[in-house]
Amino acid sequence: MNSYISPQRSLLSLISSLLALQLLLANQSLAAVNPDAAVKTENKKTDIHSQALTIFKEYLQIDTSNPPGNEKLGADYLAKVLKENGIEASVYETAPGRACVYARLKGTGKRKGVVLLNHIDVVPAHAPDWKFPPFSGTEQDGEIWGRGAIDMKGMGIIELMSMIAIKRSGKQLDRDLVFLGTPDEEVGGAHGAAWFVKNKGDLIKDCEYLINEGFIIDAYSDGKAKYWGVDVAEKNILWLGLTAKGLAGHASMPQENSANNRMVRALARLADNPPPFTLLPEVKHFYESIAHTEPAQLGALYRNIEKSTSADKATASKLKEDKLKSSMLANTVSLTVMKAGYKTNVIPAESYCELDCRLLPGVDHKAFIKQIREILQDDSIEVSVIQWEKAEPSPFESAFVKAVKKVNAIESKDGKTPVVPVIVPWFTDSHWFREVGLKAYGFAPVEIDAEHLATMHGKDERLPITSFNKGIDRLTLILQELAQLD
Ligand SMILES: [Zn+2]
Repeated sequence: MNSYISPQRSLLSLISSLLALQLLLANQSLAAVNPDAAVKTENKKTDIHSQALTIFKEYLQIDTSNPPGNEKLGADYLAKVLKENGIEASVYETAPGRACVYARLKGTGKRKGVVLLNHIDVVPAHAPDWKFPPFSGTEQDGEIWGRGAIDMKGMGIIELMSMIAIKRSGKQLDRDLVFLGTPDEEVGGAHGAAWFVKNKGDLIKDCEYLINEGFIIDAYSDGKAKYWGVDVAEKNILWLGLTAKGLAGHASMPQENSANNRMVRALARLADNPPPFTLLPEVKHFYESIAHTEPAQLGALYRNIEKSTSADKATASKLKEDKLKSSMLANTVSLTVMKAGYKTNVIPAESYCELDCRLLPGVDHKAFIKQIREILQDDSIEVSVIQWEKAEPSPFESAFVKAVKKVNAIESKDGKTPVVPVIVPWFTDSHWFREVGLKAYGFAPVEIDAEHLATMHGKDERLPITSFNKGIDRLTLILQELAQLD
């Protein structure tokens, strides 16, 4: 065993010990003078955890599959729990059977408030495919099963219990905490977050930060953390419709330039020429910081990501094997809908398809459409915009990320579990709030490995209880830290 500790290393460990102590003190102000305080804090944690588990199970038992949603049942339940714990809560109906729940824990007002956002609805579950009924909230082998366990009723209860833990501590924070549960996220948020921002936006206009779903603590298959990924941006959505028109005719007399033939040739060019890699500074930071969590060969590519993204086709293919991570490296195009023809012996007059494009933050959609046209090389094909959703990014340099890093430092003393920025390819409700000026971050502080992540929107969705409990403790500390940071 090597007992040598470098002066730098010992200074680092001293700093992290001090940090841990400071956080402990924030949690239990009398700890330094009262030797029983540590025991009391542990008991308090146990109380919070056991109460949280019951609430988590009951919440999962409320079927809020969207459509139709029926989220008012969930909103009423959350309001009841808040009230039982001494926090006033309001339920606002957004449509029949659908509702938001809003509650505020007052702080000293020294700094601006923090919104804890979560959606009440879940995607539907096909019960026969599941090991346990999807709305049973079953506890089995240290895990809680149910639709929404990860997306995102688990995180909703982590937010709720963190707020209750802070209320119970009796120590007022320097920032107000707002709990906001919304319906309708899974189909776009028109009756949820969009409704709230439009009709009740005044309730949060004094808030600066928003914490939501988005990313997680990525974990190895044994549950050990790899890195803490904070979603700072979502890709912009651009949906395009492509139409080729031609002459209808009898299929016994082929037309070389029929609508279908021109469409197929243009689409082949598009499939063979995906948009090139564009390395954003946040993404470079992400890849370099997590390189050590991958096997040697892939780790080397990640460590030199700038070089790797401009290397040969084989390297590009290797990077693209991880579809989630590589989605951050480029604007993407997926051919989704194809429609043409109605009878085998008739050449149709029209050929139509749809493209789902996801653009990196800062990309101009008009310029991107121009690039698509250049690749299609066929001006006779009409390109129309079906949908364009612009998503504003939030800065990685912020009090929130600093707070996350402080809490992370307690667990990751060797720095091998870094906090990194992530640009997610999907959309959450964060964009509604980023649009009105809040700094929004998608971060559920729970370890989730690839196997569990795949259950989200799939079957057998479940969350380990240890991760759930740690999530409550981490978020409580993050909020306490954030309240003290500018
Ligand atoms: Zn979700």
